[in-house]
Amino acid sequence: MPFELDPAGRADSPLDVVVIGAGLLGLGAAMALLEARPSLRIAVLEKETAIAPHQSGHNSGVIHSGLYYTPGSLKATYCREGRERLLAFADEHEIPYRLTGKLVVATGPAELPRLADLADRGRTNGLALRELEPAEFTEIEPNVRGIRALYVPETGVIDFTKVAAAYAKVIADRGGAVLCGRAVRSVTRSGHGWTVETDAGSFAARTVVTCAGLQADRIAAMTGHATGEYRIIPFRGDFYTFRPHAADLVHGLIYPVPDPAFPFLGVHFTRGVDGTLRAGPNAVPALAREGYGRLSVNRRDLLDSLRFPGMHRLARAYAGTGAKEIFRDLVKPAFLAQMRRYLPGIRSGDVTFGPSGIRAQCLSRSGSLVDDFLIEESPGIIHVINAPSPAATASIVIGEHIAARALAQLGL
Ligand SMILES: Cc1cc2nc3c(=O)[nH]c(=O)nc-3n(C[C@H](O)[C@H](O)[C@H](O)COP(=O)(O)OP(=O)(O)OC[C@H]3O[C@@H](n4cnc5c(N)ncnc54)[C@H](O)[C@@H]3O)c2cc1C
Repeated sequence: MPFELDPAGRADSPLDVVVIGAGLLGLGAAMALLEARPSLRIAVLEKETAIAPHQSGHNSGVIHSGLYYTPGSLKATYCREGRERLLAFADEHEIPYRLTGKLVVATGPAELPRLADLADRGRTNGLALRELEPAEFTEIEPNVRGIRALYVPETGVIDFTKVAAAYAKVIADRGGAVLCGRAVRSVTRSGHGWTVETDAGSFAARTVVTCAGLQADRIAAMTGHATGEYRIIPFRGDFYTFRPHAADLVHGLIYPVPDPAFPFLGVHFTRGVDGTLRAGPNAVPALAREGYGRLSVNRRDLLDSLRFPGMHRLARAYAGTGAKEIFRDLVKPAFLAQMRRYLPGIRSGDVTFGPSGIRAQCLSRSGSLVDDFLIEESPGIIHVINAPSPAATASIVIGEHIAARALAQLGL
């Protein structure tokens, strides 16, 4: 560490950059800053006791290929480039991954037009896809049932917790500090920079980057940034884990044909890099931003969601879809029925409930879900506001984008 901390946890003199949040994006940004300017004095502050404790450590572990995203969007661009960079980083740092390929399976004729649209979009996004008949796709996944499938060979799986740990090691090797157990309580302007108060010391910084995931709107608001037009709404995503005797029912990844209105809905099957097979995640409104149990409730989080006008509009527009998703979440036979559309042989005893993750989804005041990545700036500060999937896949490239903006703020 090129700087010392006094007994109260304060740095000895102002830092160049303080990054709030040690998920993949905060770590990715700090790593990119130190690569661009090795002499920068940077600290990443994380409120929990370990890095990647929330979305970055509770996801599906899929290296996305860029199939779904609107051509020209940040998601489409960053995902394609981010995938290449992630694979190169994993090779360099000996992080295991598998390029399993994925099947998007249509189970009925009504889904065929959407499957064809998806194939067009994937090709526009530069993917080499194959449309397969049942005899062909059952050679890849013998247990799956459907009438047609899209095969995406570039998709794979990785453990993003290991990726985050490798980013943190690179930061430390380049002289930066990743400090856990530092919950940021206030961020105020001071002189030409900022004072960041945590519950374990304060830091002065010329520039601040906020990558606070489920707390993104609150941290941005804390700095005086205007956040009235959106709110982070937490959506819990529950998985079922297959017991070892059933774990080889799927070899790679099996996905449903997405509904364009809710691209993140629809349970998929993922055989992780460690061989564990999971089905999920679903998407149900969570009653706590960081509470992983089904019954976890946080009064402030709940009121923040319920009082936001966008939430009322969303609830009115999609009450039916939401109710079905909640029903399937609470009633195991309903969740199993959804799985059996693809794998008819599954029995109740093959799967156990859990684990769960919570997505930070930015919702606008008008009630629309913000689809693309959203990064905003005020003088001297940069905020990552919306970074849903595939942000883990794209974290190196998003980190570089944030770093470029932070360097511009520093006049470098
Ligand atoms: C269920 C699920 C499945 C997903 N699957 C995939 C996938 O397969 N592939 C993919 O590419 N993406 C996937 N994603 C998306 C991906 O995981 C996220 O987009 C990515 O991890 C976001 O990283 P982040 O750093 O922005 O957020 P986070 O990882 O949530 O990090 C934010 C950090 O900020 C910290 N923080 C908040 N407030 C404070 C404070 N006051 N002081 C200090 N620190 C603070 C938090 O503790 C947290 O560690 C999935 C997400 C979920 C939830």
